[in-house]
Amino acid sequence: MRSNSKNKQLDLFQDSEFISSEEKHPEALITQYNHAALFNKLAKSTFRSKFHLTAKDKIYIHDKGLVTIQKHASDFIAKRLAPAIIPNDGKQTPMHGHPVFMAQHATGCCCRGCLYKWHQIPSGRILSAQEQEYIVSVIITWIKRNS
Ligand SMILES: [Zn+2]
Repeated sequence: MRSNSKNKQLDLFQDSEFISSEEKHPEALITQYNHAALFNKLAKSTFRSKFHLTAKDKIYIHDKGLVTIQKHASDFIAKRLAPAIIPNDGKQTPMHGHPVFMAQHATGCCCRGCLYKWHQIPSGRILSAQEQEYIVSVIITWIKRNS
């Protein structure tokens, strides 16, 4: 079943009253969105498929738990991706150091350029709370699938 991307974008944000992603349990955030088509597309990208969690990342995720990892993701997205103007856009997401960074590269959520290319979210404006929640759900879904 394929709908055109404009309708899909609308459907994505239509449901339910908005609750901050930090207040939602990771499992709720994972099941709220259907990322199947996105993950199929990402799997076909050689570049995006290169990113994997390290053994250290996996231990960190296990120790902290998904609730905490999700809080980190919300925080990183709010500070590094949500502003309208990001002076170092394209370079703001490190290649190592936190599993969320790896997930961002793997899912095209690393900078506003990639966010537009992979998720059709335009750059040059502040990300809405709903958009930030969507991005966090993509990240947490990838981490769950890969840890
Ligand atoms: Zn990028």
